[in-house]
Amino acid sequence: NKWVYCFGADATEGRADMKNLLGGKGANLAEMANLGLPVPPGFTITTEVCTYFYANGRNYPPELKAQVDAAVKQLEQAMGATFGDPANPLLVSVRSGARASMPGMMDTVLNLGLNDATAAGLAKRSGDARFAYDSYRRFIQMYSNVVLDVDHHHFEEILDNHKRDKNHNLDTDLSAADWQAVIEDYKKAVEHELGKPFPQDVQEQLWGAVGAVFGSWMNARANTYRKLHDIPADWGTAVNVQCMVFGNMGNDCATGVAFTRNPSTGENAFYGEYLVNAQGEDVVAGIRTPQHLTIAGKEANKSDLPAMEEVMPEVFNQLNEVRLTLEKHYRDMQDIEFTVQQNKLFMLQTRNGKRTAPAALKIAVDLASEGLIDKAEAVRRIDPASLDQLLHPTLDPKAERKVIAKGLPASPGAASGKVVFTADEAETLAGQGEAVILCRVETSPEDIHGMHAARGILTTRGGMTSHAAVVARGMGRACVSGAGDLRVDYKTRTMSVRGVTIKEGDIVTIDGSTGEVMLGQVPTIQPELSGDFATLMGWADSLRRMKIRTNAETPLDARTARKFGAEGIGLSRTEHMFFDPDRILAVREMILAESEAGRRAALAKLEPFQKKDFVELFTIMSGLPVTIRLLDPPLHEFLPNTEAEMAEVAKATGTDQLKVNHRVVQLHEANPMLGHRGCRLGITYPEIYEMQARAIFSAVAEVSQTTGETVMPEVMIPLIGTKKELDILKAVVDRVAKEVMDSTGVTFEYMVGTMIELPRAALKAGEIAETAEFFSYGTNDLTQTTFGLSRDDAGAFLPEYQRQGILEHDPFQTLDQDGVGELIAIATERGRKTRPNIKLGICGEHGGDPASISFCEKVGLDYVSCSPYRVPIARLAAAQAAL
Ligand code: PEP
Ligand code: MG
Repeated sequence: NKWVYCFGADATEGRADMKNLLGGKGANLAEMANLGLPVPPGFTITTEVCTYFYANGRNYPPELKAQVDAAVKQLEQAMGATFGDPANPLLVSVRSGARASMPGMMDTVLNLGLNDATAAGLAKRSGDARFAYDSYRRFIQMYSNVVLDVDHHHFEEILDNHKRDKNHNLDTDLSAADWQAVIEDYKKAVEHELGKPFPQDVQEQLWGAVGAVFGSWMNARANTYRKLHDIPADWGTAVNVQCMVFGNMGNDCATGVAFTRNPSTGENAFYGEYLVNAQGEDVVAGIRTPQHLTIAGKEANKSDLPAMEEVMPEVFNQLNEVRLTLEKHYRDMQDIEFTVQQNKLFMLQTRNGKRTAPAALKIAVDLASEGLIDKAEAVRRIDPASLDQLLHPTLDPKAERKVIAKGLPASPGAASGKVVFTADEAETLAGQGEAVILCRVETSPEDIHGMHAARGILTTRGGMTSHAAVVARGMGRACVSGAGDLRVDYKTRTMSVRGVTIKEGDIVTIDGSTGEVMLGQVPTIQPELSGDFATLMGWADSLRRMKIRTNAETPLDARTARKFGAEGIGLSRTEHMFFDPDRILAVREMILAESEAGRRAALAKLEPFQKKDFVELFTIMSGLPVTIRLLDPPLHEFLPNTEAEMAEVAKATGTDQLKVNHRVVQLHEANPMLGHRGCRLGITYPEIYEMQARAIFSAVAEVSQTTGETVMPEVMIPLIGTKKELDILKAVVDRVAKEVMDSTGVTFEYMVGTMIELPRAALKAGEIAETAEFFSYGTNDLTQTTFGLSRDDAGAFLPEYQRQGILEHDPFQTLDQDGVGELIAIATERGRKTRPNIKLGICGEHGGDPASISFCEKVGLDYVSCSPYRVPIARLAAAQAAL
């Protein structure tokens, strides 16, 4: 069995499409080597070894040792250096690399292969003792922390003491002799902590680091990250062992990270940061404020530090060539890491770059315009859920802003909330429903739960590629990073700037698109839906088959949905029109009436309101289909609750309050969701549906006369279980339609159909379709009744079901395709058999969920209907489902 794949030396054995086996980093290093880019040679230990490791009590496959030895030999030959040879030592880095990128979640060890003897050898060979001993102390610190589990603070203390004793301010002030003294203390500290000395044997070092990387796959922060990003634990990580190149050998050395396009805006401009004379993690860790790659970047960010383009123009040009090569090859924006060793460029990583939702749109649209991808691919590349970020408000430019500090615009969007200083506090307060802004000097992988809970993240240190910035962009949280004027004091839980002190719990607003930090809450405005958004949505529309409708009953919702591209209303819940304070009393009178006459009297009060509602909806939807569902109230939602409400009803109807009380008790149901609701109400009190039908049809007559447009009403009967119910109620609707046509002299078309939201209705769909002209799957109730799971109570125990893996998703959010989905498939097939042109749609919450929409496409529904803000998501998801 082959467990080890080499790259960059004599031959490269991997490719970009071998991510599952080699992890993202390993596969892309191999791919870059294949492209002839300068990649330091190395080898990848496969993810299969990780799987083996966990399946076999943390042991390796027996062949692994020989394969690693052979791979190390190849590196030695390529570099002309020998692992552990004091005269000419080979040094390597050991890094994790899973299939999906998990930034900062797992462990890395640099400079491996250094010990007392090889450090001295490196000093001699490089002619730079300071560099050699600085590298050795970094290695001891990193290795001890990552592999031997010795806490950082031991090393920090030693270093701080040395600096104080010698009056040094910066690490760079320390001489080779200083570092040697620090190293002696480091080694003593390790021996004191572990009871044994720091390992001098380079083989022991190598296997220790490999074991630590595999071990880190199961550490707490990696587990959290996987949970948040739906990454299965059994994927495993690969381990990459690669020859070291040094960005810290002097001022002709550097290290940096870059994006081939701007990850915040998507602009086609090289975007990145670098540090002169620094090693690997220094840029991402936010310890020193990095410099910009390009002059444009430097100017845009008003930085005083020189750009790489100015400092090392030749290497910069070479890097820019690499950028173009990679974009052409991968046909996507890349996130790259590089090191310059004595003016020679080396590529350490490339991967598809994380980006904000606006950047994703711009990049997809631009790549399609540049001819690198086609429109379908552009549509495929946008995560429908991410559109949410674009549809939500941004700061009102006219609103007053008390700007107290400015940092980098690290992740766009505006957020206001209470200031908190720890990730735990962010999580706690957010759990209580509070909006919070997590404020930190810098963030680390330990903070991700708090970053996830917060509305926004503010840091005082670190650049656009700092941990805070990268993670916030990935999560879609607003982030301002590196607001250096703010001073955070964790002890007093305050932050201050120029005489202003902000305490924990005070409200601030951050604007991740400008980098501004403001006092208090700043008002917001609705987003513009033009430009790239409109272009991409246009492409999506041309590629999808299903129509997208909306669930709406108020004029505001209907207008919002049309603005977002809804092609009709798929569900108008008429009972929602009755909660209005003007109307609720009449509704209560109607429900509580003991006779038909009493009900008719109350209904007569409601009819003009209803007609007005429908006139508005038909007008707004000008000619698009509008599905109006007749009354479906679980009665308990409308009954008067308080003495005062009962007194009100008594007064309005001229009855005595005791009688009202008595009637309320009489109407009380043990299971209102399965009680006297839906069509059962129409069956027992047909005058209710009669009134609604009259309101609908007179509105149709009026609007078609005044606007001259054809109105397309679809009258929908809820909670049907039998064909008979539908027959009876359709007869009522048809009769009223005829009456309205006769009395107004206007003829119009309409359809009568039903919700399918009971298992019996799904099974008997063939029969029901003899009467129904359309079906709309009410998957909220259909889920409730198929599982026998209360919509209103399941929240209390469903999380435990998910935790135990009984259900993967909340079935009220993502359709249970196996069970509820099978009923939909059955109903679709049987309904179509009876009535081949039957119109089919879905109007439960699932109509706005991308995975469920994909199922609807598979079954061949005609449309999905969802809440207004989900309409663009549904348009895109429907296009992706059709591709
Ligand atoms: C449904 O049950 O899926 C539905 C859309 O109706 P409601 O949510 O109003 O019960
Ligand atoms: Mg329902």
